[in-house]
Amino acid sequence: MRHLRPLALVAVLLAAATGCGRSGSPPVKGPQPEDLPAYEVDTGFRLPASPTWEKARRRGHLVVGAKEDQPYMGEKDPASGGYSGFDIEIAKMMSASLGFAPKTIEFRTIASANRETALQNGQIDYYVGTYTINDNRKKQVGFAGPYFMAGQSLLVRRSEKAVKGPEDLAGKKVCSAAGSTPYQRLQREFPKAVLVAYDTYSVCVDNLLTYQVDAVSTDDSILLGYAAKVPEELKVVGRPFSEEPYGIGVPRGDNALRFALDDALEANEKNGNWKKAYEATLGLSGVPAPTPPPIDRYPAG
Ligand code: GLU
Repeated sequence: MRHLRPLALVAVLLAAATGCGRSGSPPVKGPQPEDLPAYEVDTGFRLPASPTWEKARRRGHLVVGAKEDQPYMGEKDPASGGYSGFDIEIAKMMSASLGFAPKTIEFRTIASANRETALQNGQIDYYVGTYTINDNRKKQVGFAGPYFMAGQSLLVRRSEKAVKGPEDLAGKKVCSAAGSTPYQRLQREFPKAVLVAYDTYSVCVDNLLTYQVDAVSTDDSILLGYAAKVPEELKVVGRPFSEEPYGIGVPRGDNALRFALDDALEANEKNGNWKKAYEATLGLSGVPAPTPPPIDRYPAG
């Protein structure tokens, strides 16, 4: 049954796209292929010190973990099966730098709660999906980056008057994803909120639209995408109340891969690909391209 839930959101988004929304609302626009940078494949690239890279070389392509229901970040087209969004572009530029043609990437959707296990089991080579770097997670996986700085925020129905920030959440039903840092922060810092957890944020948004919860809380980058798709129904309120530095998850101990991804991020920030990718994806939700945070090349371990 679980996989049926995101379809309800899809239905709402489609209704909005086909003109049921208020006139004057922006058209639902996704990344257009012609706006996206083409990443040059480094065909001579070799990384024998990385067991993950060697396994991918033998397989012939990369397997990358991502999200599939986060507009402008990581979204799967139900018709074509193709993935798009800012995280997907990051995954593609990394692939090109590692010597694999981006179009050969096999994307796998992995929910927030399952990322560490997927990396530990070798189910994926790396993960790009709004994945906050923190010390707790670093005990289980490695992180290249950060490549973006998000912050926890709140999404409510447009008609909502009472919720303007996290201090207004006492007694309110607030939805977030299991295993996410926003869920943990609400639990720790706003214990009077009534927490509801699902595997994905799109199910939370369905619950918000159908009056089953009062707010959805996660990173602003994710919430702005949902709000931009149905601005007549939803709004993001207040200021971000955390720092969520996004990293590329890699198997813990594969330092060669981690450092190669740090190099690749730096190169793509320098040559303009990062900014172009941002503008063609997340930039569509209305926030101009920020300066990416400095790479944290922490020691091998
Ligand atoms: N960045 C937060 C996290 O890594 C929230 C977004 C997500 O669940 O992917 O937990």
